[in-house]
Amino acid sequence: MDTAFQVLAAGLLAWLAFLCVAAIVALILGGVWMYRDAESRGMDAVVWLILLILATLFGTLIGFVIVLVVYLVVRENHPVGAGMPFGYGPGGYGPAGYPSVPAACPMCGNPMTWYPQYARWYCPTCAQYR
Ligand SMILES: [Zn+2]
Repeated sequence: MDTAFQVLAAGLLAWLAFLCVAAIVALILGGVWMYRDAESRGMDAVVWLILLILATLFGTLIGFVIVLVVYLVVRENHPVGAGMPFGYGPGGYGPAGYPSVPAACPMCGNPMTWYPQYARWYCPTCAQYR
């Protein structure tokens, strides 16, 4: 026969276990989404991912939600395609033909290569499309 305390403790443990499992699932799904979203906005995707993992480890689901909310607020200042250098030319993203002036990478500042078939800039230093 269980005492009331044992039932309460078991319930509490079950709740904590649920929080941990929910936090892990949220971390995997949210982490992948946040990483891709931050990268597309030219933000420090790795820094945000580490922050999210640490917060979830120490604060479980609560820490995860806090970082996610902070990220959602911060990313408002970083629209997709922000920080494009002037070399992108008039008309913004994806000008026709090969631009005469090579654009500088927004992350490292080195000149980038224009790939017309992808309509994107490629930074050989960062090994990433901009
Ligand atoms: Zn670069």
